[in-house]
Amino acid sequence: MQWEAVIGLEVHVQLATASKIFSGASTAFGAAPNSQACEIDLGLPGVLPVLNEKAVEMAVLFGLATHADIPERSVFERKNYFYPDLPKGYQTSQMAEPIVGPGYVDIPLEQGGIKRVRIHHAHLEEDAGKSLHEDFHGMTGIDLNRAGTPLLEVVSEPDMNSAKEAVAYLKAIHSLITYLGISDGNMAEGSMRCDANVSVRLKGEPKLGTRCEIKNVNSFRFVEKAINHEIERQIELIEDGGRVVQETRLYDPDKDETRSMRSKEEANDYRYFPCPDLLPLVLDPAYIDHLRSTLPELPDQKRERFTQQLGLSDYDAGVLSSSRALADYFDRATQLCGDAKLAANWVTGEVAASLNRDGLDITQSPVAPEQLAGLIKRLQDNTINGKAAKQVFAALWAEEAHTADEVIEAKGLKQVTDTGAIEAIIDQILQDNPAQVEQYRSAEEDKRGKMIGFFVGQVMKASRGTANPQAVNQLLKTKLDAL
Ligand code: ADP
Ligand code: MG
Repeated sequence: MQWEAVIGLEVHVQLATASKIFSGASTAFGAAPNSQACEIDLGLPGVLPVLNEKAVEMAVLFGLATHADIPERSVFERKNYFYPDLPKGYQTSQMAEPIVGPGYVDIPLEQGGIKRVRIHHAHLEEDAGKSLHEDFHGMTGIDLNRAGTPLLEVVSEPDMNSAKEAVAYLKAIHSLITYLGISDGNMAEGSMRCDANVSVRLKGEPKLGTRCEIKNVNSFRFVEKAINHEIERQIELIEDGGRVVQETRLYDPDKDETRSMRSKEEANDYRYFPCPDLLPLVLDPAYIDHLRSTLPELPDQKRERFTQQLGLSDYDAGVLSSSRALADYFDRATQLCGDAKLAANWVTGEVAASLNRDGLDITQSPVAPEQLAGLIKRLQDNTINGKAAKQVFAALWAEEAHTADEVIEAKGLKQVTDTGAIEAIIDQILQDNPAQVEQYRSAEEDKRGKMIGFFVGQVMKASRGTANPQAVNQLLKTKLDAL
């Protein structure tokens, strides 16, 4: 039987406002517990919330970047439930009339091409506090600092059909929110959290299967694993004659399994109703147009510019546009050295590998784009060869010097193109290796090409990598063949 997985994601994005969504309390991460929750965040009697305009602006920017309708009017509602980390007894959210209407994002597919994933809507809401189960023995600690932090919940249509597509969608959302600067996107700190809805059906079946919701899978890797695991569980269950019941499941990364948290029957009825303390939000079309005019160049536009105008491959363009900081780094290096392809090679090559090795982000790169461009220029004007360039890069990375020129000078890496100097080295090498010379001489013509590599290596080594490789090859061949 041919099964098809169907996946819809609900992504919570923590917005990077300085203060809470309805109060002036700080949203800074890492403060002492309960030092950043005010009367309004706690919903004490008699207080009134005031909507944070920055949160509205960020939600609208997200909507515009996802080609969404921005309705003129949206409404805040109370979602009522009891939980220790929610002292108000309700979460202020949006339901019937969200701030962002239907939109979409395009995601790259592994087999090539793109897929459009529709976004059903996105709404603003406040976060709850945090229960800390591990810090106290036999007790649970409650930290209300997070209460009232603005969240944008982005709800997709069930348009994804594999865990890989779900991850690609998440990455697209992650890239958008960081490009827009509306969230730091830090998944480890919970700035982007995801619930995955998963169902399966036979291929060709028009009706959706019964879904399960996997709560709070908080890394790209866990999303992929949790979804794959859930797809397998559901298929096995159905093939064994059972049926999927709609429920919420929790992913356990240690055991790599999902387990039931609550079923639909136990699900809460939240008794949503419009919040009497907050007026409906009405947005002036001129305000929305103004925000539209402030949109930065977005990932899709960057990718297109990189391929169409700069002539990069789809792959390089995809990698370089995946983060705004990386794209900015590449753009700056290109601007300074004037060669986009060389800059792309270095950024996706040495720079990316070194960042990866040292566990650094592009913003923490010890080599600034200005320094990289300085290095590339010395390659372009043939001051150094490719081998020496790698040494220069390593020295800049280790912060041994500030500019490529300083490294070239200090290490004597200037490429030797002077044929006299190269010839002198060659003569020495030939003299030192009579056996190899003899082998070469007695070898057939078609074997000689390979054998010359030995001499090239020796000469390069003797020149500490500074000899011009083309000149070395040429001169060696002439000398050997004349013997
Ligand atoms: P609820 O009201 O229970 O939150 P929604 O209709 O809002 O349910 O859907 C929540 C998420 O679940 C959306 O992202 C949606 O795409 C997804 N979803 C809905 N039905 C299915 C299904 N049968 N299989 C997979 N995902 C689904
Ligand atoms: Mg929902």
